[in-house]
Amino acid sequence: MLWSLIKILVFVAIVAALAIGASILLETSGGVQVTVAGTEYTLGPLQSVIAIVVLVVAVWVLLKILSLCVAILRFISGDETAISRYFSRGRERKGYQALADGLMALASGEGRVAMNKAARAERYLHKPELTNLLTAQAAEMAGDRHKATESYKRLIEDDKTRFVGVRGIMKQKLAEGDTETARKLAEKAFALKPRHAETQDVLLRLQAQAHDWAGARSTLSAKLKSGTLPRDVYTRREAVLALSEAHEVLDENSSIDAREQAIEANRLSPDLVPAAAMAARAYVSKGKPKNATRLLRKAWDAQPHPDLAAAFAEIEPNESPQERIRRFTVLTKTHPDHPETRLLLAELYVVAEDFPEARRALGDLAEPGKGDARALTLMAAIERGEGASDGIVRAWLARALEAPRGPQWVCENCHTIHSAWMPVCSNCEALDTLAWKTPPRSEVQGAVAAHVLPLLVGQPDPAPEPEPMPDSKSDDIPEAELVDTIPRPEDPLETQVSTGAEADQKDDKKAS
Ligand SMILES: [Zn+2]
Repeated sequence: MLWSLIKILVFVAIVAALAIGASILLETSGGVQVTVAGTEYTLGPLQSVIAIVVLVVAVWVLLKILSLCVAILRFISGDETAISRYFSRGRERKGYQALADGLMALASGEGRVAMNKAARAERYLHKPELTNLLTAQAAEMAGDRHKATESYKRLIEDDKTRFVGVRGIMKQKLAEGDTETARKLAEKAFALKPRHAETQDVLLRLQAQAHDWAGARSTLSAKLKSGTLPRDVYTRREAVLALSEAHEVLDENSSIDAREQAIEANRLSPDLVPAAAMAARAYVSKGKPKNATRLLRKAWDAQPHPDLAAAFAEIEPNESPQERIRRFTVLTKTHPDHPETRLLLAELYVVAEDFPEARRALGDLAEPGKGDARALTLMAAIERGEGASDGIVRAWLARALEAPRGPQWVCENCHTIHSAWMPVCSNCEALDTLAWKTPPRSEVQGAVAAHVLPLLVGQPDPAPEPEPMPDSKSDDIPEAELVDTIPRPEDPLETQVSTGAEADQKDDKKAS
């Protein structure tokens, strides 16, 4: 209020002052004489004041025009000016709009549109780290591999986007099936970003496939360090890799390293069956059968397995069948009712030609609807040993041919059956997926066997009732030969006893 009053008073005072000034100037005689180009002008006092004001305004306008000219000149020569800033803001807006449209197109699956938008965005924005990525992904979506590769290569050139570029090309190589190049790229990507979980997984898988066990182990420990792997899984995988390394070294005949690796693998994962078997063999060859017995007993305690029994038999290769049965009680007293234990005992008794005892050990394992090929084959051997007729023996063998094969190494990922344990599945190439279990029975196989069977053995007799026949031991029963007539998942112990060298060879094959 007061301020408004002061403003009004000041305004009135200025107007009054101007009026007084003008009247004084009008009353004043004389003036200013200006000579321009030989002509003399005489200005009155008021005119002089107006002329000065006009002059000042003219100079100001002139200066403004000059600065505008300078700005235009600088704009033309490429310097940043207000004009260029105005235009670049416009370009930026258009560029980001194109980028946004491109991302939308990518998200809605329109590869070609996204590629065009990316090209437009690049024209306006000059930000290759953004637009190349969009172009690459759009090109992949549109199926233009060449263009995608080109964009990824451009991404590799920049430090900030190198990882994305390497990863992109690695994925392309994987899709093409060029695992060798993909592995090298994965190593590069891993070096750039060691904590990137996906890269770790891809690299580990490729290294395992390429049998680069040392590399795989270092990747595995990086995975543990970055916290993407639980410690128990790590220990198990580490054991698998150590064992794989041992297998590899064994192939190259430097057995000392292989032994240490196998023992290390067994230490890491005592229940890993192939590691236990291999470590036991390593201890036997080092002259430490006690250690071998101890670790096999531990592994058998975790899971009875024919490979463990085979390794256990090798501790004393030259003992008599009776001595062997006695020594095997270390294993057979744990899990006495486990089918594997009973089959093992039956095999041992068959070798010792104690057929009634073998039949007792087998118990109900060979009953209809229950027995697998191994139990039924053993039953045939027992019948033959007890002097049963060829027809009865053939009937058992025929049933064995039709029967399921019992537990085998089955990939838990793709359910492929493997004849021997291996670190990487031969079908899906996954690491450490083989488990010892009964595979689902193939109906086709069963049907084929049922059709082929009468051609092989004639019409089989009905399943025989167990008829113990004492004192009918024949001395010239070739058990090994008998057993070998049926293909078996695991070689039985009796073959090892009768032909020790041959069995060793088989085991070597299994190990490879
Ligand atoms: Zn598999």
